[in-house]
Amino acid sequence: MPELEAVIGLEIHVQLATRTKMFCGCALSFGDEPNVHTCPICLAHPGVLPVPNEEAVRFALKIGMALGCEIAPRSIFHRKNYFYPDNPKAYQISQYDIPICGAGKLGEIRITRAHLEEDAAKTIHVGESGRIHGSAASLVDFNRGGTPLVEIVTEPDLRGAAEAAEWARLLRETVRQLGVSDVNMEEGSLRVDANVSVRPAGTEELGTKTELKNMNSFRFLQRGIEAELERQREIVGAGGTVEQETLHFDPASGDLTSLRSKEEAHDYRYFPEPDLVAIAPTEAMLAAARESLPELPAERQARYETELRLDPEQAKRFAGDPALSEYFEATFAATRADSETEDDSQSDTAAIEPRVVANWVSGDLIATLRAADKTDEDFRDPTVPPAALAALAAQVATKAISHGSGRKVLTILVEEGGDPKAIVEREGLAQMGGDDGELAAIVAAAIEGDPAAAEQIRSGNGKAIGAIVGAVMRETKGRADGGEVNRLIRQQLGL
Ligand SMILES: [Zn+2]
Repeated sequence: MPELEAVIGLEIHVQLATRTKMFCGCALSFGDEPNVHTCPICLAHPGVLPVPNEEAVRFALKIGMALGCEIAPRSIFHRKNYFYPDNPKAYQISQYDIPICGAGKLGEIRITRAHLEEDAAKTIHVGESGRIHGSAASLVDFNRGGTPLVEIVTEPDLRGAAEAAEWARLLRETVRQLGVSDVNMEEGSLRVDANVSVRPAGTEELGTKTELKNMNSFRFLQRGIEAELERQREIVGAGGTVEQETLHFDPASGDLTSLRSKEEAHDYRYFPEPDLVAIAPTEAMLAAARESLPELPAERQARYETELRLDPEQAKRFAGDPALSEYFEATFAATRADSETEDDSQSDTAAIEPRVVANWVSGDLIATLRAADKTDEDFRDPTVPPAALAALAAQVATKAISHGSGRKVLTILVEEGGDPKAIVEREGLAQMGGDDGELAAIVAAAIEGDPAAAEQIRSGNGKAIGAIVGAVMRETKGRADGGEVNRLIRQQLGL
């Protein structure tokens, strides 16, 4: 039996954060009283006509451009017919063969399309407690009905559950930074379905796929896909065939249950919506969407890696967190500003590499905030403004203080704020140099205090030096530079 590779495509519904619904003037809301944001249009009274929401079209254009999609010069709406209580018209207005956004790409994953549609209302199954005349009942809240959605569909390019979850995170971050959606999975403003199949590795033909519906976190998305891949591999491995169906993954039990056998497109009797004209974005709309695009996570990560030479993990972390990234850039800029103003004197900051600044931000600062029971997000309202962290990093880079002392200063900055240089003076943390003889004397005393270690170092056991360095560090309370201490020990031992 050849190895079975995973073939995964995603369908992501993004609820747009427009002021009003897709085809009427009702406000969007989350968590309001049921059925307060409704009107004859979204309740499908006879004779009413839909009017497309221009803001939703603009948002869809931004999403399409951020995903590198071809924008259709003219796209049309279709009716997708189905009966369910969440759908009072008995059809959903969606897009079918001519979506507003066509083929694109995010990272290595190809986008098939991204189209506009309206959301269904919310049904609440009340079961026993809501029995009417002895039968189980459902309630419908039409507040959500008619909310604008963009559905993004990928090609089946993903090859594993973890890869799928990671790509979905990149997509969410990209859409978030466009400012067109809250992208909150728990509240349902970002909903991810996965199409999953397996096939013998190295073959091209697609196996029968199943659809995993509505996983409400990236962790559950990954676990759901893992469970479904395992199920399919077992079936195929035992010589069986996978049935096309829609599945629900229960994160609590890890079980997959069948919701229904999967519909085909012809089941929906799609036909062009006769009440709406085509969407034909003007040059001005396209230009406005293009100009409004921020630097997106994938671009930012690439810039950090190539221009600033951050390592890929760090670049990804900053690129995925706009506030952290902004803080890093401000700190980095401050190290450059300092070195420019001190151009004529000996610049004490020009030597700080971006990677070192990045370590101060994502390593030392975050760790210090956590140790002080503050959250990672507290740098957004900082007692440590970027200029202060830049000044501190400069002190360490120029060996005015040791890195250990730098951490002490940072702890004080996080607790009280202040000027790093003043804190260094107040706390007596200035690094001990080799010139004044004080450090040399401490080193000599440490060697004398541990003749066994000294003998081992002399006879070639390099590791033994750690004991003497440690003694010096204790004596100096971490104010000595480790490299300098090493040098003095070797010098004094005549090595
Ligand atoms: Zn309405």
